[in-house]
Amino acid sequence: LNRRLDGHGTTIFAEMSALATATGSINLGQGFPDTDGPEEVREAAVRALRDGRGNQYPPGPGVPELRTAIAEHQQRFYGLTYDPDTEILVTAGATEAIAAALLALLEPGDEVIAFEPFYDSYAACIAMAGATRVPLTLRAPSFRPDLDELRALITPRTRLLLINTPHNPTGLVLDPTELAAIADLAIEHDLLVVTDEVYEHLVFDGAHHPIAALPGMRERTVSISSAGKTFSFTGWKVGWVTGAPELVTAVRTAKQYLTYVSAGPFQYAVAEALRLPDSYFDGFRADLLHKRDLLTDGLAAAGFRVFRPAGTYFITTDITPLGEKDGIEFCRSLPERCGVVAIPNAVFYDNADAGQSLVRFTFCKRDDVLGEAVSRLQQL
Ligand code: PMP
Ligand code: GLN
Repeated sequence: LNRRLDGHGTTIFAEMSALATATGSINLGQGFPDTDGPEEVREAAVRALRDGRGNQYPPGPGVPELRTAIAEHQQRFYGLTYDPDTEILVTAGATEAIAAALLALLEPGDEVIAFEPFYDSYAACIAMAGATRVPLTLRAPSFRPDLDELRALITPRTRLLLINTPHNPTGLVLDPTELAAIADLAIEHDLLVVTDEVYEHLVFDGAHHPIAALPGMRERTVSISSAGKTFSFTGWKVGWVTGAPELVTAVRTAKQYLTYVSAGPFQYAVAEALRLPDSYFDGFRADLLHKRDLLTDGLAAAGFRVFRPAGTYFITTDITPLGEKDGIEFCRSLPERCGVVAIPNAVFYDNADAGQSLVRFTFCKRDDVLGEAVSRLQQL
């Protein structure tokens, strides 16, 4: 392994899901739903496969049907207008979008400011690009960014702000004031913004606001989302990038040499998914809101300190009230102690102390599974 990938061994998600399988535990670690997305969307994928749409290399930027549907979705929910031909790129999940964006836009030695705790692929991809990550630590209990601290982190080497709202793992949803302040800094210092909005449809308190919609931001922002989260098809790996033509062209250039194109038939199905009526998006959010409250209350009753998330399908907790200090040790022993798997937030930090006693649980599981997990955790 080269030095760039030093310290980026096996991802925590693979490690913890393997532990869940090996011990037969309930997996509230890795974020994937235990119920697949809408039947009609699955049927659309089957139809595409059967009718021979997308079984051979699709166009590099993605099939036109999907790019058009992505443009319509951005217009419908946020009033953002993107040209499907020049301003939209389909990727192999948001993961590839993040990798291609960072590889395309960063020079070796550039600094990237990202909220810490950060989703693990950010750190690895910044490293692969030869750039340096500069963490802005989000602190309990609110996990809101300190914007003066953000300003102070900007140096002449800063090239890019990498933001994530709704934020995995804290559930923070950036509010319009915070987004405006971040946008002002980006404009003042001529920075690019890469924004990971894969949980855009999972906001329970407040609303999702894309930073690309703010004045002066469209031309400097690469926005990323994914069908995995919104439609509960994490295995399909269909994601996308939207942005100004020069930025999307740069990301596309990198994508060509990572995967060349993304799998075809699922793209046609996701095009149909994006056009589902509002009732789908509302129902999805209502269902997850109910699960958020179920698990928040259950974890609190089990003795955790719970930070109720405004968005995503994750809950961050503090294990200190249980007499525990170290989340990594806690998560390694939890399957044996009570048959539940969770993720230690410490792995998402450079300043590991800040996340030492924090542990993340996902609630994108059936109610009976969440109920059983809570009753097991109450035995601790
Ligand atoms: N960004 C964040 C914040 C995520 O939580 C995830 C997946 N869980 C991804 C990106 C990756 O998305 P995909 O599965 O579409 O690659
Ligand atoms: N994003 C999901 C999570 O945070 C997992 C994705 C992955 O396994 N890479 O749990």
